[in-house]
Amino acid sequence: MKWLRRNKPESAAGKGDGAQETFPLVKKRAMCHVCGDVQSFTQVWRRAAMVRRCPNCGLVFENPEELYKRFQPACPKCEEPLEQPGFEYGYCDRCGSKFELMEGAKPGLLPNQSQRDEMRKHGKSWSYV
Ligand SMILES: [Zn+2]
Ligand SMILES: [Zn+2]
Repeated sequence: MKWLRRNKPESAAGKGDGAQETFPLVKKRAMCHVCGDVQSFTQVWRRAAMVRRCPNCGLVFENPEELYKRFQPACPKCEEPLEQPGFEYGYCDRCGSKFELMEGAKPGLLPNQSQRDEMRKHGKSWSYV
């Protein structure tokens, strides 16, 4: 199985992992399940490439394509949900929760470490579907 490597713009190189893998979008308003209300999302982006390094624990993925075979890819070490290419994401301005924001779909929460810990404490496993 081969992963076709796209050429990345040279200007974005050396700016740290991930910077060139996403494109910023204009802000949106969406329902935040955590706040329980419609909030503005100022920081919104579209992911262009697979996540190759966990943004939470820093684990470098040897075979990201293996992780992306799952319906909901996640870091094998800390369970951080991974953003998927072609999908749009954003942070709630009020509480900072990260959501998948697709037009015409309900926003899906991508719980961070403390939100996952909290869910586990209540006997729930995180799942954003
Ligand atoms: Zn919120
Ligand atoms: Zn991780």
